[in-house]
Amino acid sequence: MIRLLIWLLIAYIGYRVVKALMAPKPPVPAAPARNSEETVQDPVCGTYVAKADAIVGRLDGERHYFCSMTCLEKFREQLDHTTPPH
Ligand SMILES: [Zn+2]
Repeated sequence: MIRLLIWLLIAYIGYRVVKALMAPKPPVPAAPARNSEETVQDPVCGTYVAKADAIVGRLDGERHYFCSMTCLEKFREQLDHTTPPH
């Protein structure tokens, strides 16, 4: 009896799988265009990062975008070396 139930279950699952494969796929709604997502270039390593994910550093009165804190620190160091001593 249990064997019969298992076979019925397997048949049912098989039927569902076949039906799912045969059924036409519903149209996938197009993902909303992410036009607002700006990318910025890391001036240190040249990597493009999404503005939302970028690390913003206000250096030398300007906003700079970096992929990581490491790059921000590097940029800051470079800035320190290039600025003439007062
Ligand atoms: Zn970087």
